This record gives sequence, structure tokens and C-alpha cells, in this order.
Amino acid sequence: MALSLFKDGIAGGRLSSEQYDENFSDLHAPLDDHEALVEADRCYFCYDAPCMHACPTSIDIPMFIRQIATGNPIGSAKTIFDQNILGGMCARVCPTETLCEEACVREAAEGKPVQIGRLQRYATDTAMEEGKQFYTRAAPTGKRIAVVGAGPAGLAAAHRLARYGHAVTVLEAKEKPGGLNEYGIAAYKSTDDFAQAEVDYVTAIGGIDIENGKALGRDFQLSDLTRDYDAVFLGMGLGGINALSAEGEDAAGVANAVEFIAELRQTSDLASLPVGRRVVVIGGGMTAIDAAVQSKLLGAEEVTICYRRGQEHMNASGFEQDLAAANGVTIRHWLQPKRVIAEDGKVRAIELEYTALLDGKLAGTGETLTLAADQVFKAIGQTFVPAALNGSGAAIELEGGRIKVDGEGRTSLAKVWAGGDCVRAGEDLTVTSVAQGRDAAESINRALAE
Ligand SMILES: Cc1cc2nc3c(=O)[nH]c(=O)nc-3n(C[C@H](O)[C@H](O)[C@H](O)COP(=O)(O)OP(=O)(O)OC[C@H]3O[C@@H](n4cnc5c(N)ncnc54)[C@H](O)[C@@H]3O)c2cc1C
Ligand code: SF4
Repeated sequence: MALSLFKDGIAGGRLSSEQYDENFSDLHAPLDDHEALVEADRCYFCYDAPCMHACPTSIDIPMFIRQIATGNPIGSAKTIFDQNILGGMCARVCPTETLCEEACVREAAEGKPVQIGRLQRYATDTAMEEGKQFYTRAAPTGKRIAVVGAGPAGLAAAHRLARYGHAVTVLEAKEKPGGLNEYGIAAYKSTDDFAQAEVDYVTAIGGIDIENGKALGRDFQLSDLTRDYDAVFLGMGLGGINALSAEGEDAAGVANAVEFIAELRQTSDLASLPVGRRVVVIGGGMTAIDAAVQSKLLGAEEVTICYRRGQEHMNASGFEQDLAAANGVTIRHWLQPKRVIAEDGKVRAIELEYTALLDGKLAGTGETLTLAADQVFKAIGQTFVPAALNGSGAAIELEGGRIKVDGEGRTSLAKVWAGGDCVRAGEDLTVTSVAQGRDAAESINRALAE
């Protein structure tokens, strides 16, 4: 390939404003009243419902669907929020195709599950649009709890603790609360500033004070928190990413997919966001799919995901892979990055090596392929950055690079709990983080009552 003939072009403004609006509109249109009733009617209201067991927050799914079917979406929303106060976001972002909807008996019977996610959104949107609040704070207990990180885990913990009458201070490093709901989730899954609307809904209970721009390890230490508060919950997520381990990866145009998405989520003008003509994304999970699809929607001409294993090994669900294909993204398997080829310091291509499983272990075959690229996104996994904890000098035990917790979310340090992506437990999903934040709050409440 004559790389010098390839005109690079990381630029914004390739599309008309109407195209940007259309490309970044709601992935799934909300159900209207009639559609919700028809869909709710499809539920068999199963005894010992498998969908409910598949939900990490154990929402009583048959119950909330029955409430929709009987014309009671507000009651339905309460059933959802009782277990998952971020039920509105989860309705938008949960990979339902691998959770409740995969387990739905109608999926097994006819390959068409009840659309649980869309019904959940119908109910929660109805309640949130009406400003309906279901919970009031118990009488103040006089106990103070610090929550580090205002992501799904921290918010779920804060809300449950506030319900019990404790005073919660959420310390958040970024300028806005919400965690990856605000900075990471694909724009077409969370439109109309829903993440902030949800933070407002959650904090409306009172007793939750969010302080933005406050970072553990920089502005305060863990020892300050254990001294000043009755309990601490760590919900810091994952701050680092894995390196490509490819020669030349510091060339201009090679970027972290999570940072690209964060920028996209925060821009008020999508046309101002530069995107390559030929984009290569390295990875096989949700982040890789989101970076690839959003690059295409921003006007990239060719977008290729390269994943080092086979299709069946990808972390991205079948639905996510189909979404990428439907948006014109090519997914190539059994390829690992070897060398970033740059000219004048800017990426022009990426050389990849074919891989294969040899005696069950992944190995390079020596054969290579070069793809022209003016932008390369790294989406090969996020990592926990323990520096913030080390700075405090406190002894928090890690396991597999993340915070070690017991079944209730307790860390090895007295008075400190943790949950969400920063702990080694469960899948890295919004709904799992909500479940862990909620359950740690229950554990904290029990401990404070002793
Ligand atoms: C690009 C991307 C797309 C995703 N898409 C989906 C999806 O579609 N569906 C899904 O279910 N899951 C998705 N996930 C996963 C999901 O977003 C996470 O599992 C979830 O947000 C984890 O919640 P958390 O509260 O543990 O952490 P986070 O959401 O990461 O929140 C952690 C918070 O802690 C703050 N923080 C970090 N360090 C400090 C510090 N030292 N001091 C103070 N505050 C700190 C951070 O700023 C952040 O606000 C996606 C993840 C990524 C990266
Ligand atoms: S498994 Fe499907 S049909 Fe059965 S209760 Fe759940 S949603 Fe309804």
C-alpha cells in the first residue's frame, strides 16, 4: 500500500447538523402508552421468574410488568426503584440481551423476549417526568458517611444511606457527578442530559451533599475520611487503561477510547469533534463498539475493530456487535497490534499480527496485515489506579489489581466499604455497580446500628 498517497484527515464538521442530530438520537425510541400495554401483555407473569434471577439488582420484573399492564406505571416505577434507584439509566444501558431478556421464557420459546428494558424505561420515565418521589428520609441518625465517587455505585450507596437518615457527603473528582453515566455511556443510549436528570432525581431525597472537584489522594486522604466520618464507601471506578504494547503507540492520533467518548459526551457541538477518515479500534468489548460506532456516526469513512480472539470470545454482546455492523463498522478477529506506523509523528497505519490458539494459548502467527489509519483507539480494558489509596498510606488489600471486598462489600480496612468497577466482583456494568453500592449501604447501616 502506498501510504504516502493516503490523505489523512482528522477533522470535524463532515456532516450536516441534521445528520449529527439524527445519528445521535435515542437508540431505542421510548414506548408510547399503547405500545407499553401491548408489550406488557406478552409477559406470562412467571412463577419464580427467570428474568428476575438474571437481574443483578433483583427487580421484581413480573410485578412491574403486571403493574404496567394494569395501567399503573407509577406503581411499576416504585417496584423498580425499590431495588434499583438508577432504574432509569439501567433501562437504557443494560445489556438486557445477556441478562433479563436472555433469561425470559419467551426468548427460549420463540426467540422474542418480552422487551423488559423498554418497559422499565416506560415506567421510570413516567415517574421521573411527573417528578414523583417515593422515598423520604428517616429521622436523622447523626451518623456521617463519606462516599468517594459519584458514579452508579456511589449514587446508589448514597441514596440508600440517605433513606436510613444518615448524612452523606459524596466526594467526586470530576466537575460533574454521574461517573461513566455522564462521561462514558454511548451518547445515543443516554440522550437529553439524562445522566444529570437522574442525579437530581436521586439526590432529591435530601441528606446527600455532592462536592465536585474533590479527589481522594489529591485533596484529601483516606485517613482523613476514616477519622472524620463514621463510615466510608469507595466507588471510584477504573481510572487507567491497558497499554497496546505496540511499537510507536505514542504517535499523534493514537488515543484512549474512553477519553474520546468522554469528550464526545461533554461537547455541545458534535461538529467540532475531530474524527479520522479511517479509524481502527483495538479491543473487543463494549468500549470498542461504542468508540467505533460513534466514530462512524461522527462521519468517519472506514471504521474497523480489530480483536485478538474470535467472535465468540468478544465481551461485547451479539446485540452490540450487530449494532456495529448495522452502522457500517467492520469487525476483524484474530489480530493483535504490532506496530503503529507514523509519518511526521502522526499515525498513518497500523501493522497487526494474525493470532491463533496454540494448545489453548493465544499466540502470534508471524503473519501480518497493515491497515491504513489516521486515528487508532485503544479499548483494551480499563484498570484500577490504586495511587489514590496509596497516597493515604492506608492498608487496603487488593485482589487481582482491584480492591478486595467480602460478600457485603467490606474492605480489609475497618470502617471502609467499596463497590462498583473498583472491586473485583461481578461484571463491569452499570447495574452491577448499583447492586454493589446498594448492598454495601445496607451493610454500613447494619454496622452503624450495632
Ligand atoms: C465507554 C464505556 C461504555 C460503557 N457502556 C456501558 C453500557 O452500555 N452498559 C453498562 O451496563 N455498562 C457500561 N459500561 C460500564 C459502566 O459504565 C461501569 O460498569 C459503571 O459506570 C461503573 O460504575 P462505578 O460507580 O463503579 O464507576 P464509575 O462510573 O467509573 O464512577 C466512578 C466515579 O469516581 C470518580 N473518582 C475516581 N477516582 C476518584 C478519586 N480519587 N477521588 C474522587 N472521585 C474519584 C470518577 O470521577 C467517577 O465519577 C461502560 C463503560 C465504558 C468505559
Ligand atoms: S421470564 Fe419473560 S414472560 Fe416470564 S415473567 Fe419474566 S418477562 Fe415475563
